[in-house]
Amino acid sequence: MIDVAPIPAFRDNYIWLIRSANDPRAVAVVDPGDAAPVLERLVSEDLRLHAILATHHHADHVGGARRLVEATGAVVFGPGRERLPVACTPLGGNDRVKLPALDLEFGVIDVPGHTAGHIAYYGHDALFCGDTLFSAGCGRLFEGTARQMLASLDALASLPDTTRVFCGHEYTEANLRFAAVAEPGNADIADYVRKVTEMRAAGLPSLPSTIGLEKRVNPFLRSRTENVKLSAECRAGRLLPTPVAVFAEVRSWKDTFQ
Ligand SMILES: [Zn+2]
Repeated sequence: MIDVAPIPAFRDNYIWLIRSANDPRAVAVVDPGDAAPVLERLVSEDLRLHAILATHHHADHVGGARRLVEATGAVVFGPGRERLPVACTPLGGNDRVKLPALDLEFGVIDVPGHTAGHIAYYGHDALFCGDTLFSAGCGRLFEGTARQMLASLDALASLPDTTRVFCGHEYTEANLRFAAVAEPGNADIADYVRKVTEMRAAGLPSLPSTIGLEKRVNPFLRSRTENVKLSAECRAGRLLPTPVAVFAEVRSWKDTFQ
């Protein structure tokens, strides 16, 4: 299992720090929205930053990349269909990212929906999915369609159940409040609420999640289940004949859920 640690940034972002198994000083980071907390960690633990992996163009995910490159000489990988504030090796679906200094390699998955060119990184039983999949939730549809986002989430849900899911934000508690309403009676959601409440009260991140857990509790991966479909139809006041229609209704419901 690769060693991945959160570096909290802003109010609820996580920058993920990936360590090499062979050289404990060699690291990469995913989605450094802010350079300062990464630089602090590099100094305090005497680490060497070799690579930056960006999932999408939003500033809270790439805003710190330029300063980190200037300070460390790290190489940047990012979505080929989006413009980043720093030069990067452009990636798209099925590309491979080799990090020789860390002796690690990741595959790239196209996951449009939150943004048009959003990508995710998968390897070593770990998924770095930015703002596409959250624990018990998913990203808002800023640039893509419900159909695109559902296909992206389906692709992530097809990864092995043991896959650890490293999301871009600590949104789990709020997402679970919605999940419990979207799918009342789901005992896995109730169990997960208890666990996450305890972890957050202890000051711990709720992440990583796993694909297996998300398939049981995440309403956005459960558009095809009868109970989520019924809740969405009840809210819409009409029948929703396709999984995309159910997903679109659940997504717009969550957008205004308090
Ligand atoms: Zn975003």
